[in-house]
Amino acid sequence: MSQHELPSLPYDYDALEPHISEQVVTWHHDTHHQSYVDGLNSAEETLAGNRETGDHASTAGALGDVTHNGCGHYLHTMFWEHMSPDGGGEPSGALADRIAADFGSYENWRAEFEVAAGAASGWALLVYDPVAKQLRNVAVDNHDEGALWGSHPILALDVWEHSYYYDYGPDRGSFVDAFFEVVDWDPIAANYDDVVSLFE
Ligand code: FE
Repeated sequence: MSQHELPSLPYDYDALEPHISEQVVTWHHDTHHQSYVDGLNSAEETLAGNRETGDHASTAGALGDVTHNGCGHYLHTMFWEHMSPDGGGEPSGALADRIAADFGSYENWRAEFEVAAGAASGWALLVYDPVAKQLRNVAVDNHDEGALWGSHPILALDVWEHSYYYDYGPDRGSFVDAFFEVVDWDPIAANYDDVVSLFE
């Protein structure tokens, strides 16, 4: 079984300053994200061992650990990719058109997304729902509670306290504003194009 590995950041640790500090990016990537990679590998090893022995005493816990740590690993990977020192601004092209069609306007989408970011104890996600064939905002607790089955994350914003407390204290809204100063719409638009090509 292949081991999951922590992906390198696509920029330097201090590249998102002054919006997100080098210290927060370092802790967040090297400690928190690493822990989800390690937890996923460990849980998978447990499951593989239990299949061999037939002793399933630790299987239920390991199944939960796969979901928690797997979602943590995958969403953090997206989160890092969705920021850039050259980011900011608004989406363009097909994604911009779809946001306008599904939410009324970019401003309407962002206002709703910011509510999700304030309400979630985990993640605010822009997802594509292939059943309804529309974009949705989703507020996720932890990494996996409140997910809409079948939907594909297009944009992932981490609003766990480890994401902003050192920089902004309890003012999560300022962190969300800071995220929009560094958001990189190019990979988000590419996610949208890839997912839509599968379902429409
Ligand atoms: Fe995080």
